[in-house]
Amino acid sequence: METRHYDTDLAIIGGGPAGSATAIACAAAGLRVQLFERDMFIGERPGETLHPGIEPLLAQLGVEGERLANVVGARHQGVWIDWNGKRRFEPFGADAQGPWRGFQVRRTAFDAMLLERAAEAGAVVRQPCTVSSLLMQDEIISGVMTTDGPLTARMVVDASGRAQWLCRELGIDKPARSPRLIARYGYADGSCPERNAAPQMCGDQSGWLWTAMVWPGTYQWTKVALDGCKTAPGWMPEELRHLTPKGPSRGADVTWRIASETARPGWFMVGDAAAVLDPTSSHGVLKALMSGMTAAQLIGAVLAGSASPAEAAGLYHDWLAGWFANDAAQLAQFYGQLGITGFR
Ligand SMILES: Cc1cc2nc3c(=O)[nH]c(=O)nc-3n(C[C@H](O)[C@H](O)[C@H](O)COP(=O)(O)OP(=O)(O)OC[C@H]3O[C@@H](n4cnc5c(N)ncnc54)[C@H](O)[C@@H]3O)c2cc1C
Repeated sequence: METRHYDTDLAIIGGGPAGSATAIACAAAGLRVQLFERDMFIGERPGETLHPGIEPLLAQLGVEGERLANVVGARHQGVWIDWNGKRRFEPFGADAQGPWRGFQVRRTAFDAMLLERAAEAGAVVRQPCTVSSLLMQDEIISGVMTTDGPLTARMVVDASGRAQWLCRELGIDKPARSPRLIARYGYADGSCPERNAAPQMCGDQSGWLWTAMVWPGTYQWTKVALDGCKTAPGWMPEELRHLTPKGPSRGADVTWRIASETARPGWFMVGDAAAVLDPTSSHGVLKALMSGMTAAQLIGAVLAGSASPAEAAGLYHDWLAGWFANDAAQLAQFYGQLGITGFR
């Protein structure tokens, strides 16, 4: 039986959707949780178009009704896709209740809402607070060092997103599974009525462009060049050029990657910290929530003594790697329609 005293059961690095989902599910199951988020969630963050499949996940996390409606700027039934000159409307699907509808959210508001829900479920949320290094005892992770001081923890969850914090700390390989993909993205204020009903994705051999209304009066674009050409500073998509840019555009590395190990006894990686696909996959946030909730279930089983740490880590990695492989195969086929190869 474990006799050592720990400050908390679980330390979570990062308060995006993956970290918050882990925190909510673990705290609701009675675990002591501390979550560290370095940013204050001011301004815009990319990742605003949410797949309808997140609705039941959010409900399980206790987020629904007015609380969810407060951060939703629009709902849409699908996406316009113009891929290699063939234009079509791709609906999300439908059931007896009618068409499924995705969400446009302002991500800083969405992320803040999830963090608030984590605190309400019983997690201690420290924001702003950066995790700087791991605490180790006998070569086993025993907690984290933060800008608020050290914290010992029975388990650690890396939810640091594309910062890939734990991969870097432990030297875990996260090899590229695609050609190098750099997304350039920006925001603009004004009115673009043709983009209000649904986002649009246009692609050809030179690259692809995504445009969407985030919130009435605010639009987002993301561009990935596939021909090696850099997007000039100040560039804007034609359909948004009459709008007022909201600050300079930004860049993000969205090269496909999955960590060679996404869990080991003592730690789990969730969301983008574990695996990244570029935004054409269109469900990064859904995957962040789902991986956080799955890790939470396994962490609960390990800490309750009903699953061995190695068995839980193995199950998690196999599940995540299977999902990644499936998504990657579908996306590779999608890029294949443009004649672009080099994805694995
Ligand atoms: C341009 C672009 C467009 C996208 N569009 C979409 C989209 O339309 N729909 C969609 O579903 N997905 C989209 N995605 C993907 C989506 O944004 C991510 O998959 C999702 O945010 C992953 O959630 P996460 O919680 O894993 O990581 P993140 O949301 O990145 O959260 C990680 C958090 O960890 C914090 N952090 C990092 N290091 C530390 C540290 N050392 N200490 C404390 N805190 C730390 C960060 O501040 C951050 O808040 C897009 C991505 C990009 C780049």
